[in-house]
Amino acid sequence: MATFIVLLGPPGVGKGTQAKILAETTKLAHVSSGDLFRENLKNQTELGKLAKSYMDKGELVPDDVTISMIRDRLFRPDCEAGAILDGFPRTPAQAEALEKMLADFNGKVDYVPFITAPEEVLVERASGRWTCRSQGHIYHQKFNPPQKAGICDIDGSELYQRDDDKAETVTNRIKVYFQQTMPLVEYYRQKGVLVEIDGSQPVEQVTEELLSALKK
Ligand code: AMP
Repeated sequence: MATFIVLLGPPGVGKGTQAKILAETTKLAHVSSGDLFRENLKNQTELGKLAKSYMDKGELVPDDVTISMIRDRLFRPDCEAGAILDGFPRTPAQAEALEKMLADFNGKVDYVPFITAPEEVLVERASGRWTCRSQGHIYHQKFNPPQKAGICDIDGSELYQRDDDKAETVTNRIKVYFQQTMPLVEYYRQKGVLVEIDGSQPVEQVTEELLSALKK
């Protein structure tokens, strides 16, 4: 049976970094809604143009388009064994839609690591973040710098700062998270799949906790 893991937590807590590591370790597909929107933006699709107007303000893209984008992604063959969902769901309507989608795979949300950190850590993490242009590998100017400034260690492509990682937008993204995404913590806690992880620890320690919780 397929395994689906939802990484839950505020912007800047390290979901993207951990999702990439977990995907490599577990061999499950990495499905990041933010990466999918950024890919659409890069390719100047209609979806990308629509998403940009919300992303620039740090607001959520409407549920209907987000849900249908994720549905298309989950039906690709690399998700047959399951996926690590990073950034989706972000609203109760998305969580309910996900449950219905996974039923088509004979699956369910198996495990929800809820990664947390104090707000000042989130702002510092997001505003110092550098992202790789080609595949979205993630660095931080202080906590995880690349070997060569401005260049991705893994694929040699250029690193850039996301528009929505500017301090002002990060603050709004955190506010939106508390208003719209926090209810999912209770939703998944009640289903008995939530595991709290302290995201203010170094990357390796967070990974260790995630993996040991997964093994259980
Ligand atoms: P992220 O890379 O996860 O921080 O997402 C960047 C931006 O993409 C968010 O601030 C939203 O504007 C949009 N976005 C990503 N995932 C979702 C989602 N599940 N629902 C709505 N908007 C999203």
